[in-house]
Amino acid sequence: MKRILTIHTGGTISMKEDKQTGSVAPGEKNPLDQWHEEAKQVADITVVPFFHLPSPHITPENMFELSSFINEKIAENLYDGIVVTHGTDTLEETAYFLDLLHHSPIPVILTGAMRSSNELGADGPYNFLAAIRTASSEQAREKGVLVVMNDEVHSAVNVTKTHSSNVATFQSPQFGPIGLVTRRGILFHHTPSAREQFSISSLTKKVFLLKAYAGMERETIELFESASPSGLVIEAFGQGNVPPAIVPAVEALIARNIPVVLVSRCYSGIVQATYEYEGGGMQLKKKGVIFSNGLNGQKARLKLMIALEAGITGIDLTNTFESWPS
Ligand code: ASP
Repeated sequence: MKRILTIHTGGTISMKEDKQTGSVAPGEKNPLDQWHEEAKQVADITVVPFFHLPSPHITPENMFELSSFINEKIAENLYDGIVVTHGTDTLEETAYFLDLLHHSPIPVILTGAMRSSNELGADGPYNFLAAIRTASSEQAREKGVLVVMNDEVHSAVNVTKTHSSNVATFQSPQFGPIGLVTRRGILFHHTPSAREQFSISSLTKKVFLLKAYAGMERETIELFESASPSGLVIEAFGQGNVPPAIVPAVEALIARNIPVVLVSRCYSGIVQATYEYEGGGMQLKKKGVIFSNGLNGQKARLKLMIALEAGITGIDLTNTFESWPS
């Protein structure tokens, strides 16, 4: 039997619905406890209740704490795989954060639930057991951090929450899942291309994320300046364009050596310097704005925090975001 370290961090998968009010909240006991015996039919599991947090409460500092714990446990050489249960709201962020700091072939699988433990059609127990099975699969090795939900396996870099309540919420726009969970086994049909890894020993950088909108005002960016950011990510329009009013403020940040990274606010596709008008991508590129290669805003923010913490600056920082991992 494979030895699987199971780390619970909270989320709907660990919550119950109050049948009187319909509200969903964490309780004293984790309802997943009752599924540990079932999981032991599949793998030799060791359970660690690490956090008991709804995922909107999870911070990058929590992610770093979790990553450090996972890396310590991997170094003990006692486990073949790791499962992390997590709230779905920020699950993709924790998955990607862990992936950027995960250097081992051991699979790390994140899962969660859209319906709490006592709701009709609760998906938590099923997803939990699917994650244990995936973490036990030989084929899951060397693929980094994966997300298993609703019978699909997704890579941390591409997966995102796409629906507020549907159990099929986790999707990888443009790229699709990399595997299927079936009754018989875990079928991988794609291999992720080379992943990116960093090593950091602390997390001190402050990076903000801002979404572009029609008629965006210059003050939106100027407000950030007073908070002394280490970097800014902007979810720009389409291929990487912003309203002209914010361009002087973007230039001012870059002049102060504060990197500005662009992603697209579109659901699919990547930013690429194309348009030669005020606020157009070609002009922004010439001014030193960094174009990211397909990450969504929340993931680009975490990557910028980690890359800056790792001491990556200047052209190396640009290459980290603009090159395609191969
Ligand atoms: N709000 C919940 C959380 O992220 C949603 C979930 O877990 O599905 O903790």
